[in-house]
Amino acid sequence: MTRGFDAIIIGAGQAGPALAGRLTAAGRKIALIERHLVGGTCVNTGCKPTKTLVASAYAAHLARRGADYGVVTNGVAIDMPKVAARARRIILDSRASNEEWLAGMEGLTFLRGHARFEGPHRIRVGDDLLEAPHIFLNVGGRASVPDMPGIGEVDYLTNSNIIPLETVPEHLVVVGGSYIGLEFGQMYRRFGARVTIVEMGPRLIGREDPDVSDAIRAILEGEGIEIRTSACCIRLAKHEQGVAVGVDCTEGAPEVIGSHVLLAVGRRPNTDDLGLERAGVETDAKGYIKVDDRLATNVEGIWALGDCNGRGAFTHTAWNDYEIVAANLLDGADRRLSQRIPGYALYIDPPLGRVGMTEAQARATGRPLLLSTRPMTKVGRAVEKDETQGLMKLVADAQTQRILGAAILGTGGDEAIHGILDMMNADQPLSTLQWAVPIHPTVSELIPTLVGDLRPA
Ligand SMILES: Cc1cc2nc3c(=O)[nH]c(=O)nc-3n(C[C@H](O)[C@H](O)[C@H](O)COP(=O)(O)OP(=O)(O)OC[C@H]3O[C@@H](n4cnc5c(N)ncnc54)[C@H](O)[C@@H]3O)c2cc1C
Repeated sequence: MTRGFDAIIIGAGQAGPALAGRLTAAGRKIALIERHLVGGTCVNTGCKPTKTLVASAYAAHLARRGADYGVVTNGVAIDMPKVAARARRIILDSRASNEEWLAGMEGLTFLRGHARFEGPHRIRVGDDLLEAPHIFLNVGGRASVPDMPGIGEVDYLTNSNIIPLETVPEHLVVVGGSYIGLEFGQMYRRFGARVTIVEMGPRLIGREDPDVSDAIRAILEGEGIEIRTSACCIRLAKHEQGVAVGVDCTEGAPEVIGSHVLLAVGRRPNTDDLGLERAGVETDAKGYIKVDDRLATNVEGIWALGDCNGRGAFTHTAWNDYEIVAANLLDGADRRLSQRIPGYALYIDPPLGRVGMTEAQARATGRPLLLSTRPMTKVGRAVEKDETQGLMKLVADAQTQRILGAAILGTGGDEAIHGILDMMNADQPLSTLQWAVPIHPTVSELIPTLVGDLRPA
């Protein structure tokens, strides 16, 4: 028997449950389908547990640096089962509160199982057949496992199975020098592992400007992390000590022998087993669902939100997708994806807060630019905390006097960047940012100075 709904939502990650909340509150009859864990990647294997582990790693780092602050410690030991238990508690609490929220949602039918299209408006979940005029896809993504030589012969870790580890690997080889790889790499180094990061590109986090990328490399190497860039033909093989990772770099040994290997080489969308072809929903070459500026797919009545549309890769972008769709459907608004100013953070320590364009992206526009940079050694708050690694950087349009982008790599950078992000959202000129009176002593208080130091670039 086919069951009819006003709307079907596939995936209980970051956008799905919130959308279900708005739609049911508006009196709609909704089915929400989840095949695995409520809360999706962020809650179970992404942001929340990793930031919990990063906090433990920071505590270990600070404890080791105790003497720098006049604090005497008698050595530092890592209780890894307790570290893992902290992350597990955060996951379970968050998942339980999401489940409770869904259970109390009047008008919602929550189904567990794998959903697949049988037609443009018909979904199968096990023996259930559901129909609705509106379908919202929030299926997220998973770790990409590239078809590299030897992949089938070795045990490897991904973000999902490294989180519950209760032992510290002797030597963790991280394949992938981007956001996820760097967070795990530094964290495990601080837990006491030897860590090698292997990256195919010529530098770490190749999307960032070279000065930012180089500063991050220096921070990680300063903690004893080995970094092998320009590693071509990465291959894996079993080794008596664990795993041999072939790297063929232009410099250094052609193989890194580790006890464990973590694959952090990107994400892929969960769209390959969704039956999209039966609905006629188009994807791009990488499997991301194509959407327009309002998140609609090419098929009338079907939208795609969150990581699966390839237009954002963060919890806040998935959430913003929900806000756009809900406002347009329920509030008569005309909100669009193109109105979103991209911001994100890399949670190594010190963190990198980013908004808008990089300097390289700004230069590529051909506009007349203003540029300003400041090392964190010249930020009082960083000096007082004895955490002076990193830099802040601002790029602006000389003609319009609008900020184009910024990076704050330094203590508190993930928070301080919001002063700039908010100003960009408010579409304010540089003078508004310069005339603000920030609180002393903070990292943010140097932002007006950074504006004052802008020079033609
Ligand atoms: C290690 C790591 C750290 C991260 N850290 C951060 C961070 O600090 N900040 C940040 O903003 N972002 C971070 N992210 C990214 C963030 O987790 C994702 O961007 C976010 O979870 C995307 O949400 P989503 O709703 O699009 O998808 P997801 O959260 O992945 O949810 C999708 C849901 O759909 C379900 N599903 C899939 N297919 C089907 C199907 N056919 N039928 C039924 N259910 C299905 C899945 O089981 C899943 O529960 C991190 C990611 C990783 C991997």
